[in-house]
Amino acid sequence: MPWSLIGLKSLKATLSRMIHSARFPHALLLTGPRRGGKFTVAKDLAKALNCLEPEPDASPCGVCLSCRKIEEGNHPDFIVKRPTGLSQSLAIDDIRDLIRSLGYRPFEGQRRVVIIRKADSFREEGAGSLLKTLEEPSLSTVLILTALSESRVLPTLVSRCVRLRVPPLARAEILAALKERKNLTGPRAELLAGLSGGALGAALEWPPEEAWGRWASLDQLFGQVIEGQALGRKAVLDFTATECQELEKLKKLDQEEAKKAEEGQETSGHRQGRYTRLLEFMRLWWRDVLVLAVTRDKNRLAGPAASLAQRKWATEVSPKNLTARLKELDYLEDNLRRLSQSELVLTAYWLSLVNSLGPK
Ligand SMILES: [Zn+2]
Repeated sequence: MPWSLIGLKSLKATLSRMIHSARFPHALLLTGPRRGGKFTVAKDLAKALNCLEPEPDASPCGVCLSCRKIEEGNHPDFIVKRPTGLSQSLAIDDIRDLIRSLGYRPFEGQRRVVIIRKADSFREEGAGSLLKTLEEPSLSTVLILTALSESRVLPTLVSRCVRLRVPPLARAEILAALKERKNLTGPRAELLAGLSGGALGAALEWPPEEAWGRWASLDQLFGQVIEGQALGRKAVLDFTATECQELEKLKKLDQEEAKKAEEGQETSGHRQGRYTRLLEFMRLWWRDVLVLAVTRDKNRLAGPAASLAQRKWATEVSPKNLTARLKELDYLEDNLRRLSQSELVLTAYWLSLVNSLGPK
């Protein structure tokens, strides 16, 4: 079985080289977009370092006892830590326990592999105890830190790690993967590829029909605005109601997670304050309109083929105005996050969009 990742040839070559070399680094920092495969790479490395029958390119076989145990998460030398609780940082006690356990030899594997997710959430005190471990590495332990970007991780940690970036995939690679794994092609696949920002995990997490329905209803409303039609009151209300329902759900989930964290229970890993799904659609929609307006090149679109509404906006509105529409979304996101009256915020958005075209 080759490396689990799709594409990323040069990253895979680097992994193979690292494992073949006599000195595998004792600490790695993997960075890359959310849901972009960092954990997959880390797990692959854990398997490869312990595989009983590795492939010639050093990738793990995927079927030996050790590989299977790691896949199922019950290998005693495969440890995954992620921040929990309200502060979303690793508890200091947790780190101390971890470090203590690293003093022992691996139980059954050749190398103990410790994955620390969201290393960007480390505070100084937690990092301090880990630094010592990074400075006095044990030959039998490999620490793999993952984070969105290097700049978000404490420099003292970064400087002690070998850094590897898991880059976003090209659009064509995401499309190929959607076809292979979900048998999904056409506009729906193109939409998911556009929403994913090059992170395969993100492309796979959207239910295609739901995503497409949302895209179509947004597109319809934007179309009505540029056509100078009075925005269908019902359409806006329906749209707003659906979005507000989701916002409410997410906010509630936030509260539940916060409560669980307070009580010391395990949380689901739901990202707090993530009211951005609607915004992801809107950003993609306006981004493609702007690209179309500036380049007139449909091959540069990130989402599905341009709709009538997108083409109309692109030809009838100045790029300057379109850039403002894209920027406006930051403001909208901020308001949705801060204010409790989501309905009001969304309705105001549509009004201001109509006004942005000036008098007809
Ligand atoms: Zn194996």
